Amino acid sequence: LNRSPSALPNWNESVRFADDLFRRLRCATASDRGILRPSYGTGEQRAHDLVREAGETLKMTPTVDAAGNLHLTSAGASPNAPRWLTGSHLDAVPDGGNYDGAAGVIAGLAVVHALRAAGITPPRDITVIGFRAEEGSSWFDGRHKSHFGSRGLLGQLRVEEMNVARSLADGSTLYDCIQRSGFRPEQLGLGRPCIDIASVYGFAELHIEQGPLLVSTGFPVGIVEGIRGTTRARNARCTGQYAHSGAVPQDDRKDAVFGAAEFAVCVEEAVERWAREGRDVVCAMGRFHTDVQRHSLTKVSGEVQFTIDLRSLDEGLLHKSKQFLIDNALRIGSRRGVNIDVGSVDIAAPARMSRPLQAELARCAASLNLSARVLASGAGHDAANFSAAGIPTAMIFVRNEHGSHNHLEAMDIKDFSQGARLLAELLLQPNPLHSVH
Ligand SMILES: [Zn+2]
Repeated sequence: LNRSPSALPNWNESVRFADDLFRRLRCATASDRGILRPSYGTGEQRAHDLVREAGETLKMTPTVDAAGNLHLTSAGASPNAPRWLTGSHLDAVPDGGNYDGAAGVIAGLAVVHALRAAGITPPRDITVIGFRAEEGSSWFDGRHKSHFGSRGLLGQLRVEEMNVARSLADGSTLYDCIQRSGFRPEQLGLGRPCIDIASVYGFAELHIEQGPLLVSTGFPVGIVEGIRGTTRARNARCTGQYAHSGAVPQDDRKDAVFGAAEFAVCVEEAVERWAREGRDVVCAMGRFHTDVQRHSLTKVSGEVQFTIDLRSLDEGLLHKSKQFLIDNALRIGSRRGVNIDVGSVDIAAPARMSRPLQAELARCAASLNLSARVLASGAGHDAANFSAAGIPTAMIFVRNEHGSHNHLEAMDIKDFSQGARLLAELLLQPNPLHSVH
């Protein structure tokens, strides 16, 4: 573990460069509260323009792919060696904060800035990518899987999905939005990656942490072990029978609220049990409501609609939980005389981060004297799509207060400095996927 880190004597200048870029990005995309960078919208384009300009001052070569993602490449020592990709997204949720997404792109630029200042040529090319539309779920409805930029880049976006996803602003399809923005949805629809996957060494994404763990445990930086997969019921329903809330004896009721509530408690107890067994799991029922047209103070409620969003790093548990939901809906429903129907339950597999890259990040952190904590990502990221495409993938989290997806997110530039320095160290290793220690 005792090895000396690469010499980047002017690192603080690179952090000032990054800080200045954050400030200009905030100004260019400011809204009444927070910032405004809609997927395939004006604010997102402004962010791309600003980042492209900054990359060009660092003599990076810009290209834009069919999905509109920005690629800025800095040449390495061996042009034929597989290259590093690093970066994150430049869009944001409505009235979001300045760092969710942008921090990963600016970190890549800070690394290139530092290498230039130190006169270091990295072992392999480094391409910093600013992805489009990672927050597609905030700007497009319809049954789609969001992350349009990175999935488009990787050949994972199909015409059907681009025609089903519709802009919440004006109802036009994603296909038309991509085309109107000057990019090539017809090419994306062929399902082929926009880059040669075989020429990619790995993908590393720095992102602010969106949960409270790094703050509460006192670590400036996190090394992500994986991105949780999901077991989701989007259209679950408990159906009973509407009745007078005073006149009908308690035993004769088919109360949908009490049925759904018992089911909810049963799910929570199972989740707590699995967590006690040491399994990674979290769960929420984000929607849970009676029918506003029909419910009343004086009625036994006949219907409750609800959702279940259970997440875990453990794929086996995602499948087990699906069966658990189905079995217990049936058990509780039949005992109470109500019908609990969880509807279709979708499972999305967790994304594993590369073990060799995780180990290398831990070694790099130790050499930099940086305390980094290993943790799971509860939110989805562009990195998950790279992992799904078979590309060795790593993620670095930077401590951030007040969560994200709101204008209060607060990343300390000193913490960013440590996370980006760790990224630089990883990208400077000659062959971190096959390190011998
Ligand atoms: Zn993000």
